[in-house]
Amino acid sequence: MESSHEVPFMDGLTMKDIAPASAPDANVYTKFMRNHCCYDAIPTSSKLVIFDTTLQVKKAFFALVANGVRAAPLWDNKLQCFVGMLTITDFINILHRYWQSPLVEIYELEEHKIEDCRELLKYSNHTLISITPDSSLFDAIYSLLKYKIHRLPVIDPESGNVLHILTHKRILKFLHIFGTMIPKPRYLQKRIEEVDIGTFKQIATVRETDTVYDALAIFVQRRVSALPVVNEEGKIKALYSRFDVINLAAQKNYNNLNMTMQEAISSRACCVDGVLKCYPHETLETIIDRIAKAEVHRLVLVDKDDVVGGIVSLSDLLQALVLTPAEISRRAQTLITEDTLGH
Ligand code: ADP
Ligand code: ADP
Ligand code: AMP
Repeated sequence: MESSHEVPFMDGLTMKDIAPASAPDANVYTKFMRNHCCYDAIPTSSKLVIFDTTLQVKKAFFALVANGVRAAPLWDNKLQCFVGMLTITDFINILHRYWQSPLVEIYELEEHKIEDCRELLKYSNHTLISITPDSSLFDAIYSLLKYKIHRLPVIDPESGNVLHILTHKRILKFLHIFGTMIPKPRYLQKRIEEVDIGTFKQIATVRETDTVYDALAIFVQRRVSALPVVNEEGKIKALYSRFDVINLAAQKNYNNLNMTMQEAISSRACCVDGVLKCYPHETLETIIDRIAKAEVHRLVLVDKDDVVGGIVSLSDLLQALVLTPAEISRRAQTLITEDTLGH
């Protein structure tokens, strides 16, 4: 249905959205995601941790670390249902809101139960965003991107059990493995600077000499999932992601938010070696390959001098490969229908 001459008439879509989506084979990944359900992307075995809302906040974050998981669904025993998720972003919000100095205990973390922090953790019995195992992966991507979350519990409607927590990473991995069976769209050979997939303006960064508290403040204000750590010249030195903040709980030094980024980075327990980067001249295919193999949530786009120029995140890739083509196709159909009806 979609053809390139219709594209300029579609309000609200920028060139960034249109570039890959106007290609003739633009819809292959949309179809792939519509044709596979969430159940297909669930691994045969994986660890799932659930927290009762009467658990102490501090114990909950320690339990995330101890179990090596990044998030947990919250179970309300009185309501007998899942009411929300506890993620590292919540840990960041609590530290940022209540930390005063290395000498003052964070009372809210030390004393409170999860249910005492409802307002800050932004959960109630209506707020859990979840998906059923037989919903399509397209719907899962839609929810992850629409609600700007990184954890989507798959809940069996009959038993009410959480089967898995889907993430952008898991979905891209699924596409990377099983997508090899479908013909590669030609636009994968385009350079990232041509298709303009990612964020290239107002990149939130942090300097090596800034403190961990400074980084937390940026996470809270900008709501980004990671910060390139740069030197005075804007050259990339490291990457500090929201995930890395959980190290503070692991090392029980969440009271020392005055330490510099340099110190925080060198004390990380386990992390990726160096920074996973990409360059404007690299093709979309190379970038998807790199991000899927490295199992990271984003690549940092740099120039030849290593100066940070952008972020290419899994959210950007899934938006451009899966959701935008569907949106363009839907709008094209609406236009054609309106035209046919003589509007
Ligand atoms: P992280 O990237 O740290 O894992 P998210 O971006 O997924 O965190 O979470 C952002 C906020 O949204 C947090 O307050 C978290 O509790 C909440 N949240 C995450 N997933 C869901 C969900 N499926 N339903 C409702 N709220 C969620
Ligand atoms: P999540 O699975 O929560 O999305 P991330 O991919 O953000 O986690 O981070 C997992 C680990 O990988 C963190 O230690 C983070 O610093 C590291 N990491 C993520 N992206 C990059 C990157 N582009 N370069 C180097 N390390 C990265
Ligand atoms: P994410 O939270 O990584 O899934 O990304 C959501 C959006 O934020 C994407 O469009 C990213 O390109 C963008 N983004 C991620 N990190 C940063 C950052 N440090 N600065 C600016 N934008 C970012």
